[in-house]
Amino acid sequence: TRVPNNLEAFWMPYTANRQFKSNPRMFVAAKDMHYTTSDGRQVLDGTAGLWCCNAGHSRPKIVEAIQSQVAELDYAPAFQMGHPKAFELASRLVQLTPQGMDHVFFTNSGSEAVDTALKTALAYHRVRGEGSRFRLIGRERGYHGVGFGGISVGGIVANRKMFGTMLTGVDHIRHTHDLSRNAFSREQPEFGAEYAEDLERVIQLHDASTIAAVIVEPVAGSTGVLIPPKGYLERIRAICDKYGILLIFDEVITGFGRLGTPFAADYFGVTPDLMTVAKGITSGVIPMGAVFVKKEIYDAFMQGPEHLIEFFHGYTYSANPVACAAALGTLDTYHEEGLLTRAADLAAYWADAVHSFKGLPHVIDTRNLGLIGAIELESIAGQPTKRAFTAFLNAYEKGLLIRTTGDIIALSPPLIVSKAQIDELAGILTDVLKTLD
Ligand code: PMP
Repeated sequence: TRVPNNLEAFWMPYTANRQFKSNPRMFVAAKDMHYTTSDGRQVLDGTAGLWCCNAGHSRPKIVEAIQSQVAELDYAPAFQMGHPKAFELASRLVQLTPQGMDHVFFTNSGSEAVDTALKTALAYHRVRGEGSRFRLIGRERGYHGVGFGGISVGGIVANRKMFGTMLTGVDHIRHTHDLSRNAFSREQPEFGAEYAEDLERVIQLHDASTIAAVIVEPVAGSTGVLIPPKGYLERIRAICDKYGILLIFDEVITGFGRLGTPFAADYFGVTPDLMTVAKGITSGVIPMGAVFVKKEIYDAFMQGPEHLIEFFHGYTYSANPVACAAALGTLDTYHEEGLLTRAADLAAYWADAVHSFKGLPHVIDTRNLGLIGAIELESIAGQPTKRAFTAFLNAYEKGLLIRTTGDIIALSPPLIVSKAQIDELAGILTDVLKTLD
């Protein structure tokens, strides 16, 4: 099996009458928990698209909201003008966010949200007369999108090695996961929490008063569902507070109910200063992202009009009315169906399903939280992603969509998943894993 590279996957040959050859897998429709393939098969969605379709697919409230909005007001410039749906959405969202995070800036993706958060953090220190705080700290194995900000603070060297220019003044703390792959199981939830002290080490490489912000995903998703030890995020928060450093949580995956609470900040009981979201904000239907900030941060920019002008930032499609309508339809769906807490109700059932893969050939670890999970496979030397990719293909043939990242199979079904569908997912994956070479 040949593993396609990123360019084949993303940069599709849509131009100049070329045939769509390199990737024969195509979805032509979707409804609730299932995709329909171009050859007419139903595929159970084990990944909520790309961790985004939390409400399931083509849900009526979201479809109707988009249809009526596009017919009524299709576009309004975000600069100088506004429109009611943007304000309604902002007020609905800040009722969900942790206490005190009551201002929101709309973007069109997670990568843009990350850039916005980093720039806001830097500008915040500057408007307060602390412009010497220009350094940013990310974490190894962190994924924050593909913008220059995101790849600079992100911890995946492969994603930045092709591009010489990165943000300057960026350091990375080590990731607890590299301590011991099997440590973060249910048996030893606190193992490795002291790894938060690596932030002290990195801060001490510089004068602490030069550091603007630390950015982490509460649960690193794209690099393999890496769950923090109990107490770890509290310690990161405490160290940031000690030095006046802002803490940014990238909740692009963990936001909107993935862990059974609106945000991971609620799940872990740790409130960041800024929080990025995307994906689940519109259940993946229309591109949208957002940054939430604490009141103090917003207020700092409101001290005088000159700061607002100095901090020039915003996107043509920020708070696009159709995206806002989609997000409102999504929030209605989450609310009416209790989806933001559903992962908590299903967590134990889900945990049993995810851990049932333990002991199958090549499985070296299984991890779960809320409605997210991972199965880590042992690598084949020199062919690091082949085995997981084979599992992906075989699962797809058997009617299940999973996601692979390196040697790790990641699972994050839409939050409407039923217990019977969890059983079905586990059954298919067990068959697939049993037959892996
Ligand atoms: N941050 C995190 C934590 C993500 O998981 C992702 C996307 N997987 C991004 C940022 C980037 O989001 P987008 O692809 O919408 O730019």
